[in-house]
Amino acid sequence: MLDIQFIRQHEQELQEAAKLKGINISIAKLLEKDQQRRHFLQQADALRAKRNEKAQRITTLLSNGQQGEAEQLKREVRLLNQQIKQDDSKRRDLESEYHQLMLQVPNMMSPDTPKGESDQDNVELRKVGIVPSFSYVPKDHMTLGENLGLIDVPRGVKVAGSRSFFLKGFGFHLQRAVQQIAIDVLMKKGFTFLDVPTIVNEESLYHTGFFPDGREQTYSIEKEEKHLIGTAEIPLVSYYSGEIIDVAQPIQLAAVSNCYRKEAGSAGRDVHGLYRVHQFTKVEQVILCEADVETSNRLHEELTSNAEEILQLLELPYRVVAVCSGDMGQKNYKQYDIETWMPSRQAYGETHSSSNVLDFQARRSNLRYKDKNGEVKYCFTLNNTGISSPRILIPLLENHQQEDGSIYIPKALRRYMNDMEFLLP
Ligand code: AMP
Repeated sequence: MLDIQFIRQHEQELQEAAKLKGINISIAKLLEKDQQRRHFLQQADALRAKRNEKAQRITTLLSNGQQGEAEQLKREVRLLNQQIKQDDSKRRDLESEYHQLMLQVPNMMSPDTPKGESDQDNVELRKVGIVPSFSYVPKDHMTLGENLGLIDVPRGVKVAGSRSFFLKGFGFHLQRAVQQIAIDVLMKKGFTFLDVPTIVNEESLYHTGFFPDGREQTYSIEKEEKHLIGTAEIPLVSYYSGEIIDVAQPIQLAAVSNCYRKEAGSAGRDVHGLYRVHQFTKVEQVILCEADVETSNRLHEELTSNAEEILQLLELPYRVVAVCSGDMGQKNYKQYDIETWMPSRQAYGETHSSSNVLDFQARRSNLRYKDKNGEVKYCFTLNNTGISSPRILIPLLENHQQEDGSIYIPKALRRYMNDMEFLLP
């Protein structure tokens, strides 16, 4: 959510941002509703004042025994009350239309955001690590995982339907190990870990910008108006909602959680293997900081490099891309994706998404702080993946496979894997 005053002052820029982000909204219509709603408010105030004045006069007239005049005024007051009631209901409708439009206004984009329509237009910033070349025909993660007894998709589908799976034995331990590496890296950097609710209320989704637009991606418990989270960004950003907090030092929060996504609109896409599933686990990083673009840009780089450090510990080749306008969500000011090399795709696949949101979520969440001069302001919020599994198991198994079907275990992982150097068939 943006400040309405900011929207009034930046109508053209915001209309352009909406166009570039592919969001269908007329900022002019929103401003028209805003004007009408303010007009109604002023009119209602004037009518109420008039009514109150007449009501007071009635009391005086009655105490002077001027019954006839008082009756006439009473009729006028009744008419005014009727009009106030009618106007109130019109104003409520206007407020609701205004609010719905406000929820669709996109955040501005950083000046260096590439313009483009889809992920094809994202701009590569750097490549790190060496893409392996195999002297034999490499296997994909599903063949490797099934041969080693790590992954069981057929039983996943039997129990939970499409895009479901079991991790088993060392598959389970591998997932725990990559999470633990991410936890250790983030703990050393001063992140506070929270065990978060994965069922949240409707407000938390609106506050963080996942509703109304992400509703079709969200699993809901209809009768309770509760929803399963698609990312721990939701409870982490909501943790201090409605509060005035101290961000003299940026607040670094993290969580490990299950994430649930309907993947509506992805029918037929990435149906093979573990790339796109309905339930996955994610170590998530969130930072809350003061409202300063420069500070937030620095923290955005830090969040991104935290994830890069984790990938380097996993000895995986990856690249960082600047996400273009058309591939960027409504709430983001600036976004980098980290894509890790996936041999079976002969391409880099997205494994991390790092975003600077400025005050977009904080305004919706009423998340504020007092600056040095005591002025109350909205915080800025940022987020990035730490590690997400099972997607990260794809590059992990495929890049580290050996000709005999075993998997090399990166050195940093071994302490969580019984000091094993290889997962053997
Ligand atoms: P996002 O919150 O959409 O930016 O996603 C963050 C990360 O979560 C992605 O980079 C993936 O690693 C992972 N992820 C997102 N959606 C899925 C999914 N449906 N299945 C598996 N992993 C996912």
